Amino acid sequence: MKSSITNMMHGGLQERVRSLRWVLRLTWNVVPGFLIGLSSITLIRSMIPAALAWVIKSLVDSLMTEIDASAPEEGSTIMLWLWLGLGLAVLDAVAGSVRTYVNRRLADDLNVKVTTDILSHAADLDIKFFEDLDTQDSLQRAKAVSGDSLKTLFTQIFGAISSGLQVVSLSAVLVMIQPWTLLVVALVAPPFLFVRSMQTRREYALHYDRQTKRRWTGYFMGLLTGRRNVAETRLLGLAPLLIRNYHSLIGAFRDQNRGIYVANLRAVLVFDVVSVGGFYALLTEIAFRAVDGRASLGDVALFLTAAGRLRSGLMTGVTSLTGLLLGSLHVSALMELFEIKNSPRVSSESLTLDCAGAITIQDVDFTYPGSSQAVLKDLSLEIRAGETVALVGENGCGKTTVAKLIARLYTPERGRITLDGRDIQDLEIQSLYRQIAFVFQNFIRYEASAADNIAYGDLENCLDNRERLEGIARSAGVHDMIMAMPNGYETMLGRTFGTFDLSGGQWQRLAVARAFARRSSLLILDEPSASLDARAEYELFVRARKLAQGKTTILISHRFSTVAMADRILVMDRGHIVENGSHWELLSSDGHYAKLYELHQRHMPSAI
Ligand code: ADP
Repeated sequence: MKSSITNMMHGGLQERVRSLRWVLRLTWNVVPGFLIGLSSITLIRSMIPAALAWVIKSLVDSLMTEIDASAPEEGSTIMLWLWLGLGLAVLDAVAGSVRTYVNRRLADDLNVKVTTDILSHAADLDIKFFEDLDTQDSLQRAKAVSGDSLKTLFTQIFGAISSGLQVVSLSAVLVMIQPWTLLVVALVAPPFLFVRSMQTRREYALHYDRQTKRRWTGYFMGLLTGRRNVAETRLLGLAPLLIRNYHSLIGAFRDQNRGIYVANLRAVLVFDVVSVGGFYALLTEIAFRAVDGRASLGDVALFLTAAGRLRSGLMTGVTSLTGLLLGSLHVSALMELFEIKNSPRVSSESLTLDCAGAITIQDVDFTYPGSSQAVLKDLSLEIRAGETVALVGENGCGKTTVAKLIARLYTPERGRITLDGRDIQDLEIQSLYRQIAFVFQNFIRYEASAADNIAYGDLENCLDNRERLEGIARSAGVHDMIMAMPNGYETMLGRTFGTFDLSGGQWQRLAVARAFARRSSLLILDEPSASLDARAEYELFVRARKLAQGKTTILISHRFSTVAMADRILVMDRGHIVENGSHWELLSSDGHYAKLYELHQRHMPSAI
């Protein structure tokens, strides 16, 4: 992946053209009308300055003829040039305003398309990618490419074309009266373009390399301003440290930027001085010719009008081209994200709703992506359909990892995991996920109504079915809790958008109810009682056993009172299953479990 990034970063013209073609194709698919509109306006507007300069020259020449001679018919010619000039000026102004309108519409439509595409792509990616630091940076870079930046890219594309056409048409007009114009253009434009594109590449390289540091700044900002973080960081007095860290990062960005700004200023100043000097020298030459009568006053007027436009056209052209280069580098970042793909799956069988829930794990090795330490080695276990199994062991021994592998949130490096005898890797992923209800240790507290917090467990059947939803809430024992909230089921929970919040234990009960809403054959509860008081925990498990009738249940817990309710207990130690049996069998075998039990009975009677 690193090498492809380097290619994109330093890729030459071919890579830049590839990313521009990508944007054009995307835009053509989304808003073909706007693309055609912008191209037409660009064409029209790029011809106007030369035409206007020619009209001014002709007007001045006609005026001079009118003044010098008594030719009354010239009056109508003067009016013609004046009308033509007016027409061109109006057309220029109208086309400019229409372009602004089209540009804004284009930006909005592209924004909708690109951001939803990024989110859909991210929603499809395997979870391992979200733990990969390069992917995280890619995602951040891609998110920074909004419709506005794509609009800017279009402004640059059309700006470059328009300036190119202006430069060619103005040069063609100017060459007729001052052939040396070409020499000034040739001496000034290519070096300026070269220097500015080198600077732009350096600028982008800096931007690219800053991504990880930018994530750090986001992290510090989150610790200092995030609702969930402020209490702890305030209490520990971490603010000065975090602000110092934040400041040193953005201070370094500012210092780097200063270097870039100075280099840009230097290049622009050299361009300004040389181009203005060159064009003034040429103007002086024409002025002397006009004195000798070898040039008309119209020629002088034409040069004055057109040379200024040519100089600004050159400047805009170079700025647009370098902007185009920068924009195409940003687009490469977007393409880089879309090129991250899940590994192809050989076949994908759909699971039906009558899945029984028998699980086997055979000789599984697993290391977290990017980590160097294996978490599971040669792990094998079997869970019968409908069985309630508790996974116990000390912190970090691999219990949650086993549960996540069963839910196919990660893929083992070796071995296989089956559900009802079928390798879960061969199953269509969504049909597998539908079979699983998982209460995570860090479950989500949805900023939504109490009803939605449960309905999210089974969107299809609960979102618009209040009766079913209340039935689930009653069975899960949260109906009374919800009815005591200010707006019952409609109470908006969480403090990001509402004014009402729950305690950790209440949130946890809702998370469990959400899991119960799922019509799954497998229920995984990862420390579901961590925030519950003893009574709530007892009630939860009595209900869980009732509701989980027929479901295979995997329970991860540190409380003996809970664990003892399981049909079977699997004791883990450093990534291995070391014991297997019921609570009483394990106690009488006097092994690891019995030792843990004895130890904790002495110090913490109810916890493992
Ligand atoms: P348990 O649930 O038994 O407390 P886990 O299965 O969560 O333990 O973790 C097992 C080991 O895997 C721990 O050593 C932990 O550091 C490591 N680990 C857990 N999650 C990740 C992760 N996302 N990336 C890297 N290592 C991880």
